[in-house]
Amino acid sequence: MSTTLLSGRTLARLMQQKAHDDARNLEAEGLRPTLAVVVATDDGSTQWYVRSIERAAESAGVSCRIVDLGHDATAQVLAGVLKDLSNEPTVHGIILQTPLPPGVDADALVGHIAPEKDIDGANPVSLGHLAVGQPSFAPATARAVIEILDHFDIPVAGRNVVVIGRSAVVGKPLSLLLLERDAAVTICHSRSGPLEKYTKTADVVIVAAGRIGLLNSSHISSEAVVIDVGTNVLPDGSLVGDVDQASVRGVAAALTPVPGGVGSVTTSLLLLHTVEAAREQSRAFVREGAA
Ligand code: NAD
Repeated sequence: MSTTLLSGRTLARLMQQKAHDDARNLEAEGLRPTLAVVVATDDGSTQWYVRSIERAAESAGVSCRIVDLGHDATAQVLAGVLKDLSNEPTVHGIILQTPLPPGVDADALVGHIAPEKDIDGANPVSLGHLAVGQPSFAPATARAVIEILDHFDIPVAGRNVVVIGRSAVVGKPLSLLLLERDAAVTICHSRSGPLEKYTKTADVVIVAAGRIGLLNSSHISSEAVVIDVGTNVLPDGSLVGDVDQASVRGVAAALTPVPGGVGSVTTSLLLLHTVEAAREQSRAFVREGAA
């Protein structure tokens, strides 16, 4: 069986173009969408990722403010910066980049990001809104998976979809988005037992565990669509996913590559969310002024 490769690059370009067009329209109204990325690490791959967001933002006409607090920033300093950015009218989107300095708990900090600026769905309030179907920004990676499925016309309604991973940034919000689309969702995690029990009969398997080679051809059926969210950096600096891609190619019906799959769409979505947030905040400002 030949496996269709679900590249995210074309979709990412289309989204980047949309972000660019929408940002230009807002700029014509005197509003420059601005994203702030708060960083507190020297970790090379994180620095690389942040620079890639900065480059993508520049080419989409979105201002990107990197707030680098250094690898020894305290929780108190980080909380203060997040609060200030939340109150800063010229900033429309905020990301708190992980990892954080040892001992600093990201979960305790993300609540300081104003929900309307929480363009990567990190604040528990955003996850709560998602859970009850109220408007909010979903974490960009979770939404990127849905956008890829839509782009390639892969239906999920009434289908058996297995999500491997239950984190608050990927597995849980993704499962909520899939439920909203009427999928029959099973969530697997580090303590759910042998994967094949769930994945063998799945129509779609989405892996977001951060474990190299976790899923191989023995786990799936030949009709399965496999989405690899994992991004693992090898010692030589190259990037691999959670799926043993060589084993799954030729067995699965379709597969996202790493790199060039979910990750490329995620960055474009962060920019689209920032532009959406800027538009919403400016409308809210006008409404408040008129009230
Ligand atoms: P995490 O460590 O917070 O969560 C990992 C999840 O995987 C946990 O719920 C755990 O129970 C589950 N898990 C671990 N080992 C397992 C096993 N053997 N069997 C079944 N489940 C297992 O990680 P995260 O932040 O959710 O990220 C997951 C992966 O997605 C990582 O590789 C990360 O780098 C990647 N990621 C990619 C993007 C992107 O844009 N492509 C964005 C965010 C995260």
